[in-house]
Amino acid sequence: MVRTKILVTGGAGFIGGNFVQYMVKKYEHYQIYHLDALTYAGDLTKHRDSEKKENYHFIKADITDRNLIFSTFKNEKFTHVVHFAAESHVDRSIADPEIFVRTNVLGTQVLLDVAKQYGVKKFIHVSTDEVYGELDFDTSSFFTEDTPLKPNSPYSASKASSDLLVRAYFETYGLPINITRCSNNYGPFQFPEKLIPLTILRVLNNEKVPVFGHGQNIRDWLHVLDHCAAIDLILHQGANGEVYNIGGHNERTNIEVIKTIINFLGKSEELIEFVPDRLGHDKRYAIDPSKLERLGWKPTYTFDTGIVQTIDWYQDNKWWWVKKRK
Ligand code: NAD
Repeated sequence: MVRTKILVTGGAGFIGGNFVQYMVKKYEHYQIYHLDALTYAGDLTKHRDSEKKENYHFIKADITDRNLIFSTFKNEKFTHVVHFAAESHVDRSIADPEIFVRTNVLGTQVLLDVAKQYGVKKFIHVSTDEVYGELDFDTSSFFTEDTPLKPNSPYSASKASSDLLVRAYFETYGLPINITRCSNNYGPFQFPEKLIPLTILRVLNNEKVPVFGHGQNIRDWLHVLDHCAAIDLILHQGANGEVYNIGGHNERTNIEVIKTIINFLGKSEELIEFVPDRLGHDKRYAIDPSKLERLGWKPTYTFDTGIVQTIDWYQDNKWWWVKKRK
């Protein structure tokens, strides 16, 4: 009998790291391998508990290194791939788009080629709602899986490009894929360049919190563990070739998110500092997750419960973030 041997790419990052921990704990009879280049965004200290488990394995590799990726597959014969590895920060993509194309597009193509060659049973490509572009500031429209792709940043353009490649490998070669498009994630182990951990750590340290424009841009927030549970379900029950949107109807303006954190920590809103808006800043994202809900998923956190858990986690886990601050 072929044992389930899952390769998670980007498992030293935020969401991939939470997914590795979730899978190692939940499925002791699966072998969970994660592969990561350990860029600025990846670290293994988050796996100090998982490392003690026999079903946890790590491989240091860059997904654009075709020879290394093919020889790793030849040795390990993975049965499933869950692909998180990416350059993920929009502001960095505006400053330097090239690495985004290399990692997010070419790296994905290497993985698709190797998955095809070794006949994996499932290839899950973890993408983002940002590939759909932006919605107007009204509350009646949502992204569905049929919304046309209209990415606005180099980051979202690179993710949309990889989505199209993944789709093409299903249509052309019959590779058993799913594409997932999730809203903004937050929770433990998120690198402190992203809005929520950046705000928590600045507020805890009584530092100014920068807010783009007037802070009116709207994001749909999902706790990372609800994202992990969604991918787990799709891995086991997703119909091949399908796209699934993942989101929990937790829309908040950026300024609301920041004020929630400041007020929870009992600090002054004078910490807020408005800065010039991000170039091409998308107005609003909102996800219609009903297709995934029909498969049996529903989020366990509301924004109000998830943000409290996350603020508590950052207060309790200074050991993890203290060296990651600029
Ligand atoms: P992250 O930046 O925290 O982690 C990315 C990981 O990929 C890091 O560990 C990094 O070392 C690794 N990596 C980067 N380049 C690599 C390469 N060439 N080879 C191997 N590993 C490499 O990102 P994240 O926030 O955890 O996002 C994970 C995935 O989820 C991404 O594909 C992202 O597009 C998608 N996503 C993120 C969000 C979000 O809110 N963070 C929302 C929806 C979708």
